[in-house]
Amino acid sequence: MLVILSGVSGAGKDTIKKELIKRMDDVISLPSFTSRKPRIGEEEGVQYHFITKEQFEEKIKNGEFYEYDEHHENYYGTSKKLMNDKIQSGKIIVKDIEVNGTESLIKLLKNDTKLVTIFLKVDKEELKHRLINRGDNLSEADMELRLGRLKYEESKIKLYDYVIKNDDLEKTVQIIMAIIENEKRLEK
Ligand code: 5GP
Repeated sequence: MLVILSGVSGAGKDTIKKELIKRMDDVISLPSFTSRKPRIGEEEGVQYHFITKEQFEEKIKNGEFYEYDEHHENYYGTSKKLMNDKIQSGKIIVKDIEVNGTESLIKLLKNDTKLVTIFLKVDKEELKHRLINRGDNLSEADMELRLGRLKYEESKIKLYDYVIKNDDLEKTVQIIMAIIENEKRLEK
């Protein structure tokens, strides 16, 4: 099963993903490749595989991605090999990915893989607050880029099986755990 978590940068996807992995035995992550620089506290191979733009473009040329997208002036992509290996392990993969990537993965995988898509909504003022407090020192322009993305991402909400307003982390984690348990039962 592949659980896709979307929502703008700052919607809480990474924290929620970490909590799900910590609390559920059969849940694992699938780090994407990106050309953006690691943030403080991020480690190679945990949140992402960090590579240069040139290395990323080489992988695009070699057809190594199921999908990739360029946003916030960086590349992000899902490795075919890493995805296939993890799907075959029989675990539940939780993947944090934006709306264009979700759309591509639904088209590519829906016939062979059980997909559960979840969109996390967040209020614009709350988002601003979270981005300021996250400690990655966003410039005014970067902040605008990320806030500007909110409208676009929310315009794609119909793609998703579930939409959750993430205004309380613990409540959101509990809801997603219940969704996963329920989807597991439906799969059997
Ligand atoms: P951030 O730079 O804040 O970690 O992520 C920026 C955006 O990239 C987030 O919306 C995240 O979900 C998205 N993202 C992460 N990995 C991938 C991926 O493999 N493919 C696509 N299309 N988007 C991704």
